[in-house]
Amino acid sequence: MSVIEYTTPSFDLSEEVLLLRDAVREIGEREILPTAAKRDHDHAFPAEIMKKLAEAELMGMLIPEAYGGTAIGNLALSVVLEEINYFDASVGVTLSVHNSLCASPISRFGSHDQKSRYLPRLAKGELLGAYALTEPDAGSDSANLRLKAEKRSDRWVLNGTKIWITSGDRAGLMVVFARTDSAAPKAKGISAFIVETGWKGFKVGKVEEKCGLRSSSTVEIHCEDLEVPDENLLGELNGGFKVAMDTLDGGRIGIASQSLGIHRACLDASIKYAKERQQFGQPIAEFQAIQWKIADMATDLDAARMLTHRAAVMRDRAVPCSREAAMAKSFASRACNRAADEAVQIHGGAGYTKDFPVERFFRDARITEIYEGVTDIQRLVIARSLLK
Ligand SMILES: Cc1cc2nc3c(=O)[nH]c(=O)nc-3n(C[C@H](O)[C@H](O)[C@H](O)COP(=O)(O)OP(=O)(O)OC[C@H]3O[C@@H](n4cnc5c(N)ncnc54)[C@H](O)[C@@H]3O)c2cc1C
Repeated sequence: MSVIEYTTPSFDLSEEVLLLRDAVREIGEREILPTAAKRDHDHAFPAEIMKKLAEAELMGMLIPEAYGGTAIGNLALSVVLEEINYFDASVGVTLSVHNSLCASPISRFGSHDQKSRYLPRLAKGELLGAYALTEPDAGSDSANLRLKAEKRSDRWVLNGTKIWITSGDRAGLMVVFARTDSAAPKAKGISAFIVETGWKGFKVGKVEEKCGLRSSSTVEIHCEDLEVPDENLLGELNGGFKVAMDTLDGGRIGIASQSLGIHRACLDASIKYAKERQQFGQPIAEFQAIQWKIADMATDLDAARMLTHRAAVMRDRAVPCSREAAMAKSFASRACNRAADEAVQIHGGAGYTKDFPVERFFRDARITEIYEGVTDIQRLVIARSLLK
């Protein structure tokens, strides 16, 4: 018997999702694209754009309707994220983290009280969401995290540092992972907490200056005797690593979708430029070397989208999809980076300047292979599932 069976759910896009895609495309053209290059240059957080996305009901896509969301699901979110990232990957990651890494774990693991208190505000965009797992000594080895939570009567006191937290200085709410049992094996002594960033002891540290995603914000967070009420423990005590990994299955579909958006932007820009740019008395699109690049970029894009939509449909159907999400992210992010590299090459010297958007796409693409698990960790997840 084969170790790996076919997993080929049908993933036709419904009329509702197609309409949503078109509406988001319009928002992207009108609200996001005109200011994307300037925001990138100025490192300007897209606060006004996030308000527009909230008005378009894009902040509660994984939140149940009973708690104010649209619950439209992971496939629709993937389609939306591809569109948003086509215009601006900084806006894309802010939206992806909010939906997949903050609203989703509260929806999936939260108590009724937690959901009632926080989900409606996340869905309306009153609160922006973030997710804090990574620490100086816990990157790929996230189970090695040290941020400590100590129980004192009816509350937990958190002390320690998180790094590279997307929207950490903009978020109103953050899912924070902390060590609650230092005697237990690494992954067994971690718990998740819902933290309001206005609470005393929550401090924002260094703001990262990044190569790409320059208008998204990435910061260090310090918890200094930060008191979290017991009712804000998310999921089971010492069951936080499960929350973290389940959440990343969804998040990885989000980053695969981000890769699709950047990839498609690279392809479109390359086709346009190849038809316009004349060398040796003809458009460079007439050269077979250019045609092959375009053909490979388009083929990779379709393959990446199919893997991504498959994983999204599986998650929507509550079918375990860690392997498929890792396959989608690893393939889509690498394909996106190949496409960004080829897009710059097709543009020649022009692609290396800020006069053309592929320079930004090239810088933005790089992160897709790093966050929410580097490519090697995706391979590890895939291999472990096959070799167990
Ligand atoms: C812009 C940005 C935004 C981010 N946003 C968030 C966020 O919102 N929340 C959050 O919690 N984190 C966030 N992160 C952190 C991100 O998830 C980590 O950077 C990522 O998981 C990798 O960890 P690391 O950077 O420590 O790399 P390391 O783990 O130190 O990896 C370094 C190198 O070693 C390799 N390596 C490590 N382990 C293995 C292994 N077992 N097998 C083979 N190779 C291995 C890696 O492939 C890589 O090449 C963000 C990071 C960035 C840059």
